[in-house]
Amino acid sequence: MAVNGLGMLLSLVRQNPGVTRSELIEELGWSRVTLERRLNDLVDSGFIVAASQHGSAGGRPPEGFQLDADHGVLLAADIGSSAARFAVTDFLGDPLISVTRPFDTELGPTKALTIVRNQFRSLLSQAGFETDAVLGIGIGLPGPVDFAAGRVVHPPTMPGWHGVEPAVVFETEYPDAPVVVDNNANLLALGEYRKMWRDRSDLILVKIGQGLSSGLILDGHIYRGPGGMAGEFGHLYCSEGTQCRCGRFGCLESVAGGWAVQQQLQSVGNNVQSGEEVVSLAMRGNYLALDLLARAGELIGEALAPAVCLMNPSTLVLAGELAQAGEIIAVPMRAAIKARTPEYLFERLTILPARSGSDAGVNGAAFLAQDAACVRHDFSAKRDASKN
Ligand SMILES: [Zn+2]
Repeated sequence: MAVNGLGMLLSLVRQNPGVTRSELIEELGWSRVTLERRLNDLVDSGFIVAASQHGSAGGRPPEGFQLDADHGVLLAADIGSSAARFAVTDFLGDPLISVTRPFDTELGPTKALTIVRNQFRSLLSQAGFETDAVLGIGIGLPGPVDFAAGRVVHPPTMPGWHGVEPAVVFETEYPDAPVVVDNNANLLALGEYRKMWRDRSDLILVKIGQGLSSGLILDGHIYRGPGGMAGEFGHLYCSEGTQCRCGRFGCLESVAGGWAVQQQLQSVGNNVQSGEEVVSLAMRGNYLALDLLARAGELIGEALAPAVCLMNPSTLVLAGELAQAGEIIAVPMRAAIKARTPEYLFERLTILPARSGSDAGVNGAAFLAQDAACVRHDFSAKRDASKN
């Protein structure tokens, strides 16, 4: 673990792109000589580069430091229950090449992870890189993950995945790259937060897709809970709930999840096969689709109101296929939260659609892989060598 001086310095540069020597000295309390030696070590290792800063009034602009985009590449996968997005990104997490494919986690882990491995190989080759350029791998799955153990835990809608450790599949091919696996709502939250909301300390990302889940960012970090299930609110009891796909009865998802809304529309003869088609039907003025989405928004708002009271978040971001319905779902949701929370809490809360589009999940996966690559790197050899 990089808990030594170089690790601390790298962590600061990662979190503050463009940070200057003066800012680093102020933060770390090191002498200029110590800082210079360690900056040189990080530049030599390829992790960071110096970049001139703009906007200084006269004189030579101060030199800032940031991660080196060209240090290596990251492999990222954002796997949903019906589709997956794969990307090769630069070291900053910006996709160099990406692709979205239909995906079925019900195939079971062996077949599904083989598809992931083949997609990574294919994209890496198309982007012109060898496996040794890969510095980290991040994978998001549509179910709970014990993050520290890298293990899938009782996923309600992924038969055969309980106890699976996806990293094992990639270790032989990429022996030097850490593999991190997380719930995809967490990765959406991280991607959206680091790309769009860095100025805030907290964010709740609510994913209204085929299922319902959320990712919580507290003080700039993903909050997962000890079992990795924080934010999994789709299987909360709801008095209007019916038989849920998880096997229980009465889950919120069984009335407000995309699959449930879709089923209700199909039961009266509407041919809708995806969340996008549900939203499109509502946009065309179908009364039942409008009603179902509005009711879903209201019930989701009712379920989230206690979280607003408990956590006092500043930002609630809506993502997922059904969130594309915009105000149709957001207005009743906002009203339900407002009706259930004290005014002084509600007036500080911003509720907005996600901003980073279809890449939010792979961005989050890449950021997680980047974090792991920086933390795992063993600087001790470099540091010892630099003393000689
Ligand atoms: Zn359920």
